[in-house]
Amino acid sequence: MSKDKNIFKATWAYADAPESTDHIKIKKQYELFIDGEFVKPSKKKYFDTIDPSNQKKIASIAEASSDDIDKAVAAANKAFTSWSKLPGKERGKYIFRIARLIQERAREFAVIESLDGGKPIRESRDIDIPLAASHFFYYAGWADKLEYAFPNRKVKPVGVAGQIIPWNFPLLMAAWKIAPALATGNTVVLKPAETTSLTALKLAEIIEESGLPKGVVNIVTGAGETGAAIVNHPDVDKIAFTGSTGVGKYIQKATAGTAKKLTLELGGKGANIIFEDAAIDQAVEGIVNAIFFNQGHVCCAGSRLFVQESVADVVIQKLKSRMETLIVGNPLDKNTDIGAINSAKQLKTIKDYIKIGLNEGGEIYQPNCKFPKNGNWCAPTLFLNVSQSHRIVQEEIFGPVLAVQTFRTIDEVVEKANNTPFGLSAGVWTQKGSKIFNLTQRLNAGVVWGNTFNKFDPTSPFGGYKESGFGREGGLHGLRGYVKFD
Ligand code: NAP
Ligand code: MG
Repeated sequence: MSKDKNIFKATWAYADAPESTDHIKIKKQYELFIDGEFVKPSKKKYFDTIDPSNQKKIASIAEASSDDIDKAVAAANKAFTSWSKLPGKERGKYIFRIARLIQERAREFAVIESLDGGKPIRESRDIDIPLAASHFFYYAGWADKLEYAFPNRKVKPVGVAGQIIPWNFPLLMAAWKIAPALATGNTVVLKPAETTSLTALKLAEIIEESGLPKGVVNIVTGAGETGAAIVNHPDVDKIAFTGSTGVGKYIQKATAGTAKKLTLELGGKGANIIFEDAAIDQAVEGIVNAIFFNQGHVCCAGSRLFVQESVADVVIQKLKSRMETLIVGNPLDKNTDIGAINSAKQLKTIKDYIKIGLNEGGEIYQPNCKFPKNGNWCAPTLFLNVSQSHRIVQEEIFGPVLAVQTFRTIDEVVEKANNTPFGLSAGVWTQKGSKIFNLTQRLNAGVVWGNTFNKFDPTSPFGGYKESGFGREGGLHGLRGYVKFD
């Protein structure tokens, strides 16, 4: 239980009003978490983090220079000597403790996540934060069972893991990275994205409170240059990166010819396939969840919809009516379905793609939305009348924009679905299990959902093919990127 007893009272008392931020502790200024201490950045530089729903500044965040990265890597290296020798059972205890502390502070984490990043509180409360805790619980369980994970092999940690994460699932991505690294005996230098550092820094507070030995996890904030300093540091043994395909390619080049182990979780352009025998109303909910969850800022979003021709009219009509009911607005309101676009820069990218779609001859549909003032807002958007060669069908938009196409046969839809540079996710909606199994074999995607979409679980591996990256996170497979064998 949290020390603040009012937390739960407040949740019930304001059930229909925007989530109150009264008792959420946010500092004016955040420092770097290096060697178990919060320290000022060597160049004394700070940047602002803003609330994307009103453009107001929330706090100042320290910008780590390459000198600070040197310090963080040195601390992680020093800590590695004893941390890597600690029995798995002891390591597990710390990871369990971190998991429990996240659960205790779940509400605080959820509010900060929505405030800093713009996602609806319903999602941070019910999905992001509980899942982040589950990842720590799950990997805590593996810490003393590595010989079962890798039978007959002598497993060793890799060393210092440099971890760089994006802004769409800030705490969850930190959990995906830190939990397996610790379970396998590595130490960590993690950099959150510039626009969403706050929950990673809150996690640093929890890590401090958990009593994890100093230097085992270091959290350094900053922008791309800070990330590059981690990637290029000679004493970093592994890079785990989640982000855009462009930066992923740069990192792959930067680490080529070094001994650094690398995993890349990159972009996507997921196909969501609706067959004529699908339960149509459920499929429509599935389409909405696939593309509008987290404003479409989802690497595995179902951003390409393929509907079998015989049911296309009814599916599209139902989808449009459902879109009319979606509430775009204050991320802290529990009724909100679509929150704020994470940054003005991302909003511009999305708007540019909408223009491209129109110029390419796409037929647009957007419900009439009333947006709050000042923030970054985008209506849920459909494009009909598009084809495989259109840029909005091929390129990742990373916003609430869906490109709709129809198909007649399985072969046709498989060919279309696989025809992008990406290979991260897909969804199949049908009453026939055999059809799902058939398609899971033939779709080039790291994850294929059957009659659901965007479902995550710490026991399931996640990752891509082609330009969506390589390596897996989650599940037993997620341990593999953090170990080496004798
Ligand atoms: P991004 O621009 O590639 O940034 C990702 C992270 O890399 C951020 O922390 C960023 O810092 C940092 N970075 C930027 N330039 C760098 C450089 N030269 N060297 C090292 N680090 C650098 O991606 P994003 O816009 O944050 O996130 C959206 C992308 O992530 C989408 O393409 C999405 O598909 C992908 N994604 C993939 C997965 C997956 O599991 N496959 C999951 C989530 C997101 P700053 O932001 O502070 O500049
Ligand atoms: Mg922010």
